[in-house]
Amino acid sequence: MEVLVINCGSSSLKFQLIDSDSEKVLAKGLCERIGIEGSSITYESERCSKETKEIDMPTHHEAITAVIDALTDKAKGVIKDMKEVKAVGHRVVHGGEYFSRPAVVTEEVLSKIEACNYLAPLHNPANIIGIKACMRIMKDTPNVVVFDTAFHQTMPESAFLYGLPEKYYKINKIRRYGFHGTSHSFVSKRVAEIVGKSLSELKTIVCHLGNGASICAVDGGKSVDTSMGLTPLAGVIMGTRSGDIDPGILEVIADIEKKDVSQVTDILNKESGIAGLSGVSSDFRDITKAIEEGNKTAKSAFDAYIQTVVRFIGAYVAVMNGVDNIVFTAGVGENNTAVRQAVCSHLGYLGVMLDEKANSKRGEEVMISTPDSKVKVYVIPTNEELAIARETVSLLK
Ligand code: ADP
Repeated sequence: MEVLVINCGSSSLKFQLIDSDSEKVLAKGLCERIGIEGSSITYESERCSKETKEIDMPTHHEAITAVIDALTDKAKGVIKDMKEVKAVGHRVVHGGEYFSRPAVVTEEVLSKIEACNYLAPLHNPANIIGIKACMRIMKDTPNVVVFDTAFHQTMPESAFLYGLPEKYYKINKIRRYGFHGTSHSFVSKRVAEIVGKSLSELKTIVCHLGNGASICAVDGGKSVDTSMGLTPLAGVIMGTRSGDIDPGILEVIADIEKKDVSQVTDILNKESGIAGLSGVSSDFRDITKAIEEGNKTAKSAFDAYIQTVVRFIGAYVAVMNGVDNIVFTAGVGENNTAVRQAVCSHLGYLGVMLDEKANSKRGEEVMISTPDSKVKVYVIPTNEELAIARETVSLLK
């Protein structure tokens, strides 16, 4: 069956139309600058190569309409009628403690997502706009929501509680939630298939290293700890996000810059990480190139980044009292051989032995440890859209 997967941001909307039987992507694209002058849709399908068209999109309603027009276009579309789309799967960032699995959208589900807005003020309201636009335009098509946080709802209290006065958890639900759950779940299931064992027997550490990055300890198929927290700002150093810092730094920077907490948080989200440290770029391709050209600041940024990844891997081996597999995924994890090599060079104590030739591969599923390596290391490309399509179908069956 045809499933439309939607990932809605405040001014953007990514989509993929997936045939859930063959798991093929029939068409995909991106609406950008929604509500801003110069909005456009980029579209590609089995019947046409990638093209960008400027279309006026004052709201997400026009964006969804543009997506439907593209999908049903006589020349470049892949379906005749939107009735062929049997379900829409939406990525939603924060499900709080309400959602430990995907859900079919109802008024009650929508109000629970709204109740989580204070936990993800940039993302959840945008996700809701996308859902409501689909409900209006495709009246008879069921909508399913798949949450970034849901997979981590299996974390024990000991992993999710912060050392804060109890009332902040009890009343305000301030705790670790974790993100990238769809990816961590997808990849940890795939590793079980590859090694031919049941999920329940395996301890896996998933390193989702993209522009945003998080690491997850998956024990017996369940998330038992993860590096992001209440927000996606925590954990390892990322493209532009600081990752874990001493919380006391907030006040110190606020004093230096004469800024308030929200302005300093903005610095931590947008001007920090590998971009802020290196002064070069948030993109690891630029960092690797700068290092090759002898840029010492870029090398320091790279080393600090690697240190944070290595630190979490070590912590999660301890949390699970062992590890069978370590997996790299997402943009950096799938493509940056230098990052993988540097991380693995710290894992000799686990008996990890890197296969240099296998590690030179990019963007494909491959075991990068030697056959006799005690802990196996894999690269597994993540596919969050396919995971959302699968969850959507399995919920509606
Ligand atoms: P996001 O968190 O935005 O989804 P991605 O998973 O796309 O981020 O990761 C972006 C990072 O992945 C960038 O730092 C980039 O250097 C790296 N990356 C993506 N594709 C490639 C590639 N083909 N070769 C090398 N690096 C890549």
